Amino acid sequence: MSASEKAHRASGTGTEAPDTGGEPAAKPTGERPPEKRPFLLDFFPLQGEEATRLARFYERLREGRLSTTRCRVDGDLHWPPRVACPRCHGEDLEWLDLPESGRIYAFSAVLGAAPLGMESDVPYAVGLIDLDGAPLRLFGRIEGRPWSALAIGDRVAVEPYEVGDGRVFYRFRALDA
Ligand SMILES: [Zn+2]
Repeated sequence: MSASEKAHRASGTGTEAPDTGGEPAAKPTGERPPEKRPFLLDFFPLQGEEATRLARFYERLREGRLSTTRCRVDGDLHWPPRVACPRCHGEDLEWLDLPESGRIYAFSAVLGAAPLGMESDVPYAVGLIDLDGAPLRLFGRIEGRPWSALAIGDRVAVEPYEVGDGRVFYRFRALDA
């Protein structure tokens, strides 16, 4: 947000509205139109090429493929995906699809204080997932079962999904044993 936009918003508190002779000027709080979340409070990353050098990650996710980068020089497998290898600092990376299943290494429940836009999802489970056949442990939401019915070691599937505003993300879904 630019400084002038901030100033505009700051002045839009309604407290300085002119007296219109008893006619309500504007509907007070309660029913706010959908608004774009402030950048710092937006849980999901910007995903287009104009916003990130990792746009390919989201393109592949949109195709149903959770993927990451691997260094062609030293074979270092990254998570999250990178634009440069943290080991050799080179940029000769390749994209690699990750396994589509794993097991719960640890989990917890969000019972309150959810991120903006997720208040109505409470309670929900989040956890660390060890992917099958890959030395990576990923964090994410776990859907498909109440958190109180989850257990360490339970199998989950990787589930790319649409956030609802044109963006995509990934989560995990508990599988029957
Ligand atoms: Zn490298």
